[in-house]
Amino acid sequence: MDGQRIRELSAREAERFAERMPASKAMFQRAERTLAGGVSSSFHGREPWPVYVARGEGARVWDLDGNEYRDFHNGFSAMVQGHAHPAIVAAVRERAALGTHFGATTEDAVAVAEELERRFGLPRWRFTNSGTEANMAAIRLARASTGREGVVQMAGAYHGHAEISHLHEVDFNDPDALERRIAEVGPACVIMEGAMTSVGLVLPEPGYLDAVRDLTRRHGVVLILDEVKTGLTIAAGGAVERLGARPDIVTLAKSLGGGLPTGAVGMTAELAEPVEDGRLRLLGTYNGNPLSMAAAAASLREVLTPAAYEELDRLGARMVAGCESVIGANGLDARCVGLGSKGCVRWAADPELSKLIWIWLMNRRVLTTAGRGQEWNVTVAHDDEAVDRYLDAFAGLVAELTPRLSGSARA
Ligand code: PMP
Repeated sequence: MDGQRIRELSAREAERFAERMPASKAMFQRAERTLAGGVSSSFHGREPWPVYVARGEGARVWDLDGNEYRDFHNGFSAMVQGHAHPAIVAAVRERAALGTHFGATTEDAVAVAEELERRFGLPRWRFTNSGTEANMAAIRLARASTGREGVVQMAGAYHGHAEISHLHEVDFNDPDALERRIAEVGPACVIMEGAMTSVGLVLPEPGYLDAVRDLTRRHGVVLILDEVKTGLTIAAGGAVERLGARPDIVTLAKSLGGGLPTGAVGMTAELAEPVEDGRLRLLGTYNGNPLSMAAAAASLREVLTPAAYEELDRLGARMVAGCESVIGANGLDARCVGLGSKGCVRWAADPELSKLIWIWLMNRRVLTTAGRGQEWNVTVAHDDEAVDRYLDAFAGLVAELTPRLSGSARA
């Protein structure tokens, strides 16, 4: 890709961005005085300044300047239900009036656990407030059951912001390397996603997840499947259902709460024993928070239905086909990967290009996750028009990057 052309386009798009976002700029200047870096999470920071969001509805969000976007970021892929889904709004409203926190378990928590058991095939569940906490609980369970400390994860994986001691890495899709590392370290657990979502999107090769299951079992190592991103978004039962993963523990968060903070840990009956007999305590003041559980129950019951997953697949397939056609028509050195509601275009790694893609799409009213290359998530609120807006914006960018072929790119 022509570096000079990328810089030219980036400069032009940065000017256009600045013109469209004076209110976000002013808010950034105000926020910087009291919020570290002007944002609530370091992931919210972006160049030239963060976008401050005012509201969302369905597949759309509006920033402080009143600009409307089709949302393919979806709160770091936590909003597969779309924004302000009526069923979730109603459940939250009803629960809010009945009290939102007791430090005691509510019926919704039981109903959510029952539904998760059905979807993921694991018999015991506990709730947390985030994916980080769910993974911390999972690692504690694995350590308690094995009496070992080591944790093996995949190179480039993200499992949350907790410091994990005794951590070792190995490449995804390489069962032999995993077995060697396990033999060397004697870990308590392997923690991994069924498809890696932290480095674009990397699908497991045929037979890989089965090989991981077999070798972890052979070595007495607990297999933790991090479904924080994949659970409830690529199928009703996440990577367990769609990719045939067979873990000892599943962790969930993000889309589980339909926009409220929550997480979950599903485990085998055997792993639950120390929790049930009191040897291991999984704690948290807000665990199973009634408001989050009301949202999760409504989402699982009324929103994330079999028909919803069919529609997510249809829209996801349209995104992939559309991006592939733009790539093919222009002979681009890029590849498109999709899985249910998620997908990405994988370009040759170039941070400047990645920044340009984000700002280009923003300027064409398509919100994506900054700093993540060209990733997208569709939701149950997306429609063909949202997909078309994305594809038109992408085709326009490619046309500018490959000017000699611009006619065919726009076709
Ligand atoms: N696991 C995965 C795979 C994630 O993508 C994330 C968040 N991006 C986490 C865990 C951590 O979740 P949280 O931000 O809710 O703590």
